[in-house]
Order: sequence, then C-alpha cells, then structure tokens
Amino acid sequence: MEARARILVLTEDSGKQAQPTIQKLLKEALKLVVEGVDLNPARVRIEPLPENERARQAVSANKWKEQPPTRETIFLLNLIAAQLVVQPAGFVVFHFDTDRVWTDRHTSENRQKFEEIIRDGVRRILRGEAPQPVNPRPRSPQTAEQIETALGRLIILSPCYSIESWLYQATHELLAYCRNRHESEEHVQLIESWSVDRTLLDGVSRPKDDALPCVGDRHNEELAKAFPAEDVWLAERSFFESIERLRSCSSLIAALGY
Ligand SMILES: [Zn+2]
Repeated sequence: MEARARILVLTEDSGKQAQPTIQKLLKEALKLVVEGVDLNPARVRIEPLPENERARQAVSANKWKEQPPTRETIFLLNLIAAQLVVQPAGFVVFHFDTDRVWTDRHTSENRQKFEEIIRDGVRRILRGEAPQPVNPRPRSPQTAEQIETALGRLIILSPCYSIESWLYQATHELLAYCRNRHESEEHVQLIESWSVDRTLLDGVSRPKDDALPCVGDRHNEELAKAFPAEDVWLAERSFFESIERLRSCSSLIAALGY
C-alpha cells in the first residue's frame, strides 16, 4: 500500500511517553479535520525522528530556542526542509508548549521564537540562502510560491498553557489518578469544573506543576488515550486553534481525504 502522507512528529517533551502521547493527540485531531479519515499506518505514516538522529538534541528541552542556533538546530532545520519537499506529501508537525494561558497567547515567546528561528530558518534553506551541511540536500522548490506552500506543511501544535492543558481534559481518568494519590476536595472540585466547562483549562497557568502536582506528567500517555477530542475542539481554545492550522493546510487535506 502506498503512503499518502508522511508526517514527521516533533515534540519538545522528552521521555518515553512524549511521542506516543503527541501522536495520539495528533490522530484525534486529524479525525476532526477530515471526517472518516483512514489512518491506516501504511497510508498515513506518522513517525518520530530516528533514535540516532542528531537533530533530536535540538528538539527536546529548550535547545531549539537558543540564539544563535546551535549546530544541532541547523541539522534540525535541514531535516525539516528535506521532509517538507519529500514525495509523496511530506509534513512536519511540531509540538511545543505556549507557556502562556489562552488570553496571553499573543505574548508567547515560544511562538515568536518558532517563527523566527525554525520557520524562517527553514525558509532560508528552501531559498538556498543558508549553508546545508547534511546530505542529501533537499530538492528546493522553484518559486517563492512553492516555497511558501512547502512551509505551510510545517504545522504547529501549541497548547495553552502546556500539553497537560489538553491531557487533563480526560477528567474522568484524571480524577482517578488524583484520588489515588490523596484526598483533596479542592482538587475534586477543580477537576469537576474542568469537565463542566472545557474552556477553563486553557486559562490555568502551569497545570502540571501548580494546579495538579499530584498527577504531574506521570500519566500523559494514558490520559491521551482518553482525550475527549470533540468536546475540547468545541470549546474553541488552543486545541481548536491547532485543528484550524491543520485544516488550513490544503495539501494535508488532499492527502488525507484520498
Ligand atoms: Zn490531586
């Protein structure tokens, strides 16, 4: 079976649960973007960076945000550029936390840095304006329009405040994990309020460190499996925003809608 889309998934979270967690959330998002989408892995390849890939060091932690870009970041930029021009349809989905609550999202340093360092860096490579230390060199698109179309296949997942702001929407499971650790009426009420109003979590600062350190990020993969994607989408906060970004990528829609 021929692949219709090859999606490289990058997440700044490190640790064993990070990739399966973000991939699960991405699949749930894709189901909302194209109704009845066939996510057969032979058709839609959703892949992490290889274990031995040097660019991995740039993605995790805060390395990719360093100015000037580190050598690892330059590897990463070239790798992204190559993926965006791969045939058939190559995409890159990049997860980083906004580190802001929803109403402050426009002041997110991470979002600004992504555009300045990553997207502009990839643009320079596609234009042939930057040194390219890795082989094979990406086949550069020809026109400015083709370059911008390729850059449109670099799509961000940028939760407000962090990935736990989405994962904690699995409130039924979340409550069980909290109760397992301790008895806190305050936490029970907090979690219940999140389940009643799905817009609230995007307004919570530092959810895993300040709001629910009892759960933290220890169960992210399990919470992702219970993520109520449609309810969270309907709340029209940062998950909705990321869905809209996916939806606005016409080549992704074309590849998935096949
Ligand atoms: Zn708790």
